[in-house]
Amino acid sequence: MATTVATHTIDELVVRLGPALGGRIRRAEPLAQYTTFRIGGPADAFVDVTTADELADAVLAARALQVPYFVLGLGANILVGDKGYRGLVIHNVARRHRFLPDAAKTTCELWTESGAVMQDLILEAVERGWSGLEHYIGIPSTVGGAVWQNLHFLSPAPERERTMFIAEVFERCDILSEENERKTVDADYVQFGYDDTVFHHRRDIVLTATFRLERGDPDRMNRILHENLSWRGARHPWLQVHPSAGSIFKKIEGVGAGRLIDQAGLKGFRHGGAQISPMHANIIVNRAGTATATDVRELIAIAQRAVEEKFGQRLETEIGMIGEF
Ligand SMILES: Cc1cc2nc3c(=O)[nH]c(=O)nc-3n(C[C@H](O)[C@H](O)[C@H](O)COP(=O)(O)OP(=O)(O)OC[C@H]3O[C@@H](n4cnc5c(N)ncnc54)[C@H](O)[C@@H]3O)c2cc1C
Repeated sequence: MATTVATHTIDELVVRLGPALGGRIRRAEPLAQYTTFRIGGPADAFVDVTTADELADAVLAARALQVPYFVLGLGANILVGDKGYRGLVIHNVARRHRFLPDAAKTTCELWTESGAVMQDLILEAVERGWSGLEHYIGIPSTVGGAVWQNLHFLSPAPERERTMFIAEVFERCDILSEENERKTVDADYVQFGYDDTVFHHRRDIVLTATFRLERGDPDRMNRILHENLSWRGARHPWLQVHPSAGSIFKKIEGVGAGRLIDQAGLKGFRHGGAQISPMHANIIVNRAGTATATDVRELIAIAQRAVEEKFGQRLETEIGMIGEF
C-alpha cells in the first residue's frame, strides 16, 4: 500500500493557504482526466490555482511544509503512474492575459499568466492581427509548459525548412525561484535549448510570461493555422480519438526515434491497452482509454530493447514520469 501524505499535513496546507485557496484543496483526486494520455491514479491533494499569485502561494506553502508538489499544465508531456501522486498537485489555470501594442501599433507585447492555454492565445492573437504564435497551433500546452519545454514545430508552412521555437518570441517571464524569490528574468536566464531550459534543472516556477508579436498579414496567418493543422492531422494520431503524450523518445543524433522503432518492426505493436501508433512510431496511444501507466512503461521498455538489439542505441524518454507506478 502506498504511503500517502498524512491527513494532518494536508490539513496544515489548507490552513496555511487560507479559506479561499485552502478550501479548494481536493483529496484523492484522479489525475487521468488532467492529462492528454488520460492515464494516472489519484493525487493525495489537488488544487486549481486561478491567478499567478495563487500559484506562487501554493508552491510556497508546499515548500514550507515540505510536501512534495507538482505544477500541472495541460498534462501533455507526462505519464502519471497508476498509483497516483504522493503530495500536492497544483493545477495551473491562471489564464489572465493582455495584448499591449506599442504606440505605432506595429508590435505588441502579450503579457500572460502561465496557465493560459496556447491554443486560446494563438486564436486571439490571430484575430487581433498579431503574428508570432500561429506556428504552434495544434500543440497542447499551457504557457508555463511552452516556456519550460521551449515549444517547437517545423514551420513556417509550406517550406518547413526549419524548426521554430517559442524562444523566438519570448521577451521575459516572472518566476518564483527555487530560493522563493519572485523576479523577472530574460532569455539569458532561461537558456533555451532543444527540449530544454533552465526549468528542467532548477525548481523555478514560471508565473507569467511576455511574448513579443508583430503586425501580421491575416491571410498568411490563417493559412499557417490551416496548413499546420492539416500537416499534423495527416501525420499524427488525433488526440481526441487516440489519447497520447506526443513524442515519447528523444531524437538520437538528429535521427527521429520513430524511424528506428519503425525499422525495428514495432509500428502498430500493442501491449495491453497501449499501442505504438500505426501512424507515427514515436507516439504511444491509449487505445479506447484502456491503457494503464504500466502498459505504457512496459511498451516503452519493449521499444528500447528492440532498438538497442537492432541498432545498438539506447532510446531515452522525453516525457516526464510522475508519481508512483
Ligand atoms: C499530441 C501531442 C503533440 C505534441 N506536439 C508537440 C510539438 O509539436 N512540439 C513540442 O514542442 N511539444 C509537443 N508536444 C509536447 C507538449 O505539448 C509540450 O511539452 C507542452 O509544452 C506541455 O505543456 P503542458 O502545459 O501540458 O505541461 P505539462 O505536461 O502539464 O507539464 C510538463 C512539465 O512542465 C512543467 N511545468 C508546467 N507548467 C510550469 C510552470 N508554470 N512553471 C514551471 N514548470 C512548469 C511541469 O511541472 C512538468 O515538469 C506534444 C504533445 C502532444 C500530446
